[in-house]
Amino acid sequence: MDRRFAETEGKRAHDPLYSPRSAARATATGFPVGEHGEVFAGPLIVGAGPAGLAVAACLTMLGVPYVLLERYGCIASLWRHRTYRRLCLHLPKRFCELPLMPFPSSYPEYPTREQFLDYLDDYINMFGIRPFFRQAVISAEFDGELWCVRTKEVVTAAMDGEEAVLSSATREYRSKWLVVATGENAEPAVPEIEGIDVFKGQVMHSSDYRCGEPFHGKKVLVVGCGNSGMEVSLDLSNHNVHTSMVVRDTVHVLPREIMGISTFGLSVWLMMYLSIQNVDRLLLFLTRLVLGDTARLGIPRPSIGPMELKKVSGKTPVLDVGTIGKIKSGDIKVFPGIQSFHEHGVEFIDGRSEYFDVVILATGYKSNVPYWLKEKEFFSDKNGFPRKPNEWKGKNGLYAAGFSRRGLLGVSMDATKIADDIIQCWNDTDYERYNSK
Ligand SMILES: Cc1cc2nc3c(=O)[nH]c(=O)nc-3n(C[C@H](O)[C@H](O)[C@H](O)COP(=O)(O)OP(=O)(O)OC[C@H]3O[C@@H](n4cnc5c(N)ncnc54)[C@H](O)[C@@H]3O)c2cc1C
Repeated sequence: MDRRFAETEGKRAHDPLYSPRSAARATATGFPVGEHGEVFAGPLIVGAGPAGLAVAACLTMLGVPYVLLERYGCIASLWRHRTYRRLCLHLPKRFCELPLMPFPSSYPEYPTREQFLDYLDDYINMFGIRPFFRQAVISAEFDGELWCVRTKEVVTAAMDGEEAVLSSATREYRSKWLVVATGENAEPAVPEIEGIDVFKGQVMHSSDYRCGEPFHGKKVLVVGCGNSGMEVSLDLSNHNVHTSMVVRDTVHVLPREIMGISTFGLSVWLMMYLSIQNVDRLLLFLTRLVLGDTARLGIPRPSIGPMELKKVSGKTPVLDVGTIGKIKSGDIKVFPGIQSFHEHGVEFIDGRSEYFDVVILATGYKSNVPYWLKEKEFFSDKNGFPRKPNEWKGKNGLYAAGFSRRGLLGVSMDATKIADDIIQCWNDTDYERYNSK
């Protein structure tokens, strides 16, 4: 996109009326959209998280109008409403910025959740992005010529302490292009665990966890040891909560930094010069110096190295920000898999049984694409990801933004490629033809 972007920018520099903001405003006002199922000239983007916003910004700069549909009343609902307060970006900021706008230089190396949300607010202002909020996409299908996307708009308000539905309406949008940007983490994944229904304590998903304060003095079990499970455990422990964590599988835990250098940045650099196996050997050697032998703490490592595992399975290594230290000091206890729940606690597969007040399921998330997209060739109907890893383009104008399991870096790469691809045929589209049918 860079060359074309530079050309477009050059032309626009001489256009006194042009601004990214006005281009996007034209998007929301200049074309018929929605209520009667008219055809929209530009692409439909589903999801106003970082991926949807990045695609919208790239399209804006190329002068392509779009409609951005978001189920909630805000952008980046995952970051705003389903993350814990202590969350910071796991990777250095240079790997997390969206296309066309760097993070402010005043931001720290690992911006906080609030800083990231401020950045996204600035991003939508910069590019004049105006999503259509409260438009939950309930179905999308290709009719042989166009994508027909149906949304449900539900407006609620708090009344007498309860959430009352004020109105609900369905709409239809049609377009030549559909960009799926609903995220790898659209819905919490909750496993079935034997006996969980009989447990009398509180059970919650990590997406509902905000901070450790309410759990003060309680015995809490965190199920899962991905980035969320490790950080929630650390936060609980920092709030003097009796914290235990279940580690069922093998997992690669790496320090977030090695000798002051970001482990992620270091691996990206090493991969340019060494084979993936040698990078893994070096990373594991350095990790052992920093963290020690995690297997001795109850966190065994997979048989293949972290980078190779990421490549073959998409499984991301966990970056430690202090949890391992808390495990070593005994502030966080580690248990193996759960055998079953009982009324007041849990029996583990090693035969131990413990009492708990609260169980937090840090068991991850899943894509919701299979629930609404009526297409099975490009997207898998099993996991809602593109069938081939790193695929961003399907048939008939279908795109996937943010499904490459590469976090915000992958989001940016997808958005740039998608906007580039759409502009190729944008100028040839005769949308009047569809509407006059
Ligand atoms: C706790 C946590 C921490 C993370 N930290 C990092 C990090 O530090 N660095 C990193 O690179 N990545 C991180 N990630 C990964 C993170 O998911 C992505 O970086 C980023 O949020 C992906 O953006 P996205 O737009 O693809 O998805 P999302 O942020 O999930 O946005 C998807 C949007 O689509 C909307 N949507 C979903 N379904 C529908 C529908 N049917 N109709 C309309 N709208 C819909 C959602 O409401 C949401 O607003 C983290 C994830 C989690 C859960």
